[in-house]
This record gives sequence, C-alpha cells and structure tokens, in this order.
Amino acid sequence: MKRTIVEVILALALVGAGVFGWTNWKGNQKATGQLTELKAASEEATKAAADKEAAVKAAEEEMTALRAEMAPLEGQAQQLAAVKAAMANGATLADLEAAYKTQKNLSAERQVGLGALRMLTKGAEDPAAMEAFRKALQMSDLGDRKNTICAAQIGLAAAGEKVAIMADCLPKGAKAAHGEKGDKADKSGHDDKAPAKDGHGDAKADGHGKPGDKKSPEKHAVHWGYDGEMGPERWGKEFPTCLKGKSQSPLDIRGPFVKTRTVVTADYKEGPLKMINNGHTIQVNVTPGSKIRIDGVPHELLQFHFHRPSEEKIDGKPMAMVVHFVHKSAEGKLAVIGVLLKEGNENPGIKTLWTNMPLEEGPEVSPEGVNFNPANLLPREFDFYSYEGSLTTPPCTEGVRFFILKTTVNVAKEQVAAFPFKRNARPVQELNGREITTN
Ligand SMILES: [Zn+2]
Repeated sequence: MKRTIVEVILALALVGAGVFGWTNWKGNQKATGQLTELKAASEEATKAAADKEAAVKAAEEEMTALRAEMAPLEGQAQQLAAVKAAMANGATLADLEAAYKTQKNLSAERQVGLGALRMLTKGAEDPAAMEAFRKALQMSDLGDRKNTICAAQIGLAAAGEKVAIMADCLPKGAKAAHGEKGDKADKSGHDDKAPAKDGHGDAKADGHGKPGDKKSPEKHAVHWGYDGEMGPERWGKEFPTCLKGKSQSPLDIRGPFVKTRTVVTADYKEGPLKMINNGHTIQVNVTPGSKIRIDGVPHELLQFHFHRPSEEKIDGKPMAMVVHFVHKSAEGKLAVIGVLLKEGNENPGIKTLWTNMPLEEGPEVSPEGVNFNPANLLPREFDFYSYEGSLTTPPCTEGVRFFILKTTVNVAKEQVAAFPFKRNARPVQELNGREITTN
C-alpha cells in the first residue's frame, strides 16, 4: 500500500496540474472558474475530514513514513496529505467530474488528473482511474509530453497494471523499482539507454506553462523550442539523452546502404479527426485501429505530426516538410514512418487538416463530422531507408526504428506557408557508426 501511495505521489508530482493546476492552457477563463470552485470544495472537504480524527492520524502516520522515504518530494507529500484528506468524502471527485461533463474532449493532462483523483478517492483498483490513465497515455505526444506520459504510466503501475515506466520518469537516485508487480522499466525495450532524468520535481502537466507561471517554488517549467535559449543545442541540459545519446535522430541519409529484407505494410483506417497544436507542432491523434506491420509485427498508429522543413536530409538536402507517423508495438517498441513533403501541387489531405487545425497552442480539438484517413498522406510505393534512432524532440528517447520513405508526396508552397510553425526541425545528428538499410 505504501508503495502505491508513493507512486501516486510521484504521479501527482509529475502531473502537478492534474489536481490543482490544470488551467495551463492560455486564456482558459472558464477552467479558471472551475478551478476556483474545485478549490473551495477541496477546502470544505478538508474541514469535514478534520473531524475524523482517526483517519487523519492514520494519514499522518503514513505521511511521516513516506516523508523519510521521499525526502526530495516532501513538498508534494505535504500537498498530498492535504489532498488525501480533501478526497476522503468524494466531494472533490464529484465536483471535478461534473465540471468535466460539459466538455466533450478532455486533454491528456486532464485525463491524468482525473485518474489520479479517482485513485486517491476510490482506491487503486478503480477501473475508471486506469481507463483515464490509459486514455492519457494514448493521447500523449511521445515527444513532448513526457510528464503526462510519466504520470499516466506511474498511475497505471500503481493500479497494479503491467506497464513499463520510462527511465526518464524516475526521480534521481531511484532504481527501476517500480516493477514490483513484475514489470521492469527496461522491458519496454526503448528506454533502457535513456539515463534517469534528474527529477527535480518539474511538476508540469504538459510543459506548456511559461517560466513566469505562478507555481509553488520547487516546481519549474520545462520548456524547449527550436531557437535561442531553448534551442536544440540546449535540450541536453534538461534531457541528457538529447546530448549524450549515440543513436539520435534525425539523420542526413546518404550511402552506402545495407540491403534489408524487412517488409513494412500500412493498414490505416478512417476515423474522427482529432488535432492538437501543442506549441511545437500540429499533431493529429489517431483513434485505435490503424497500424503498420514490420515483418508481420503490428505497430499501432498513435499520432502523426509535421516538421518544417523536413528534419531528415537526403544527401544533405532537406525537403519542404515531413510527416512523422508514430507507431507502437504491443511490446512498447516505437517505429516512425517519415513521409517527405516536396513542394508541388496542392495536397488534398493536408487541405482538410489545415482547414481544421488550431492556429494557437491549446487543447485537442475534434471538429464535428470531420473524418480523416491517414493513408491519404502516404505515397503508393513503400521503398524506404531505415535506421535505429530516437525521438527528435525531448526527451530524445532512443530505440525508435525509423523508416523514411523514398517516394515523396506533394505539398503546395501556400500550404507550407500556412503551417503555423516557421521552423520546428531538429538539426541532423551524428551517425556514430549506425547502419542505414534500404529494401
Ligand atoms: Zn517528428
């Protein structure tokens, strides 16, 4: 039980906003109002719980034990004691659920917050908590929403689910001890090379807060970008793998190539369009059912997103843009298909996307009645260059298999210009003796 609580604290510490500060989105006045209500409900519940002396005493004892174990997270532990007391009668959960009911699509961060709150209120076996964490995991951009992913993974592990926790999610000094229930962090197969991140409590739900955000002092915003102070050369400070990794993406793709017999096929399905402007790119979140097969092994399509110009270069030359289709196997292995977009005729698929994309950073939108089939963005031929690489955004996790298709797809000059990010491409990385294969 103690470990479960520790893990929930971690989840809370990492998601931070889950319970308290889920109002990071710019200008979300409505949510601010809801938060005030939630806080008031919280305070009321705290008062009620104060009467239950025994419960408080037990909670205190638990917290004392935890404090010794979790010294670096003491701030959060104290916060949790208050939260726990407030959760006891379920009023806060009921309030939050009522507030969320009016919203059609919850962001990944809110899903995590809801999961954490449910778990605190209803216990670790609550299936709806697991469902919320699962949904958050599914919705999260693997590249730039590390904290949300961590919180969801930790939440699921705390609920007794078999889930691999990325090494980057563990606080400093922590061994991969979350695998009590039989799962080891290195089982994911894609994070064992990533050094444990120094977990100085960057309790941001989404990394979208600006440095000036009013947060408790031990928390600070993790933010990164594509130029200046937050540019790719500085990513390594917060995310060590970006600097120290030896199998980083993207690459300048040039020969000699090694012939491979690997066969990749795509089976993408039409589904409701869900898009997010996460401040780094335009990303389309895909409902389950679309997949690729790599030598017969299915990898589910999670999301696809765009970079301008293309991150990959072919013989030193970039293209106008690239689409990255991000997939994950049942084993947790990541595979990215890169489709290079070359300036030419208008692309009808992109026209649909651009018509519906949010120009400003904010939560996921899902325009009513609009469906999209990701296959619209694929070329007919599936000849590729392939190599072992990494996420091209922090935390730059390695163990990602890349397939860069040789056949390009057209995009109109005007469409490139309409993409709201002028430059969101990481520079090419060292090959470090890696093989580039071709079929
Ligand atoms: Zn990408």
